[in-house]
Amino acid sequence: MEDNLCETLSRACGECHLDGGCCFEARPPLSQERIDILMKNGVDASAVEFAGYKRLRLKKDGFCVLFKDGKCSIHSFKPETCIAGPFTFDINENVLQIFLKRESICPMVRFLKADKKAYDGLLDAAVENIMHLIDAVPAAEMEEILKIEEPETDLVAEIALSDKRR
Ligand code: SF4
Repeated sequence: MEDNLCETLSRACGECHLDGGCCFEARPPLSQERIDILMKNGVDASAVEFAGYKRLRLKKDGFCVLFKDGKCSIHSFKPETCIAGPFTFDINENVLQIFLKRESICPMVRFLKADKKAYDGLLDAAVENIMHLIDAVPAAEMEEILKIEEPETDLVAEIALSDKRR
């Protein structure tokens, strides 16, 4: 991602009225590959839990266990769904559906809608990372992940998955 786009989006995150925004009550799903990357970079195994799928756990204050000093402590190798935000996903009959959070719950969306290049760049990164997650997570775990409700989002793209996926 380009530096100026990164800066713009970081600024949007800084303006978030949700105080911790996406990282509050966030339990991003993890592939074994992502867990290995986390452990290699010093994250303790106790940060991971299993609830039908592998995910990061919450701290007692309701924030993701890796949210520290007001920001993500693993920004450069954070999980795929964290990179994809504010885009989220579902799979319906072998079609990957991409949803975008509404402006009311994510200030970054206003910046994205005003900048087509930024929007397209982040959408591409989101799709690439979500595809990677789909490939890396066992099918039974992905079924559980797909049960997670994503309220206040709008469908923005649909992409056919190859038969090898899902
Ligand atoms: S991994 Fe980082 S970006 Fe993702 S929810 Fe946790 S603190 Fe937030």
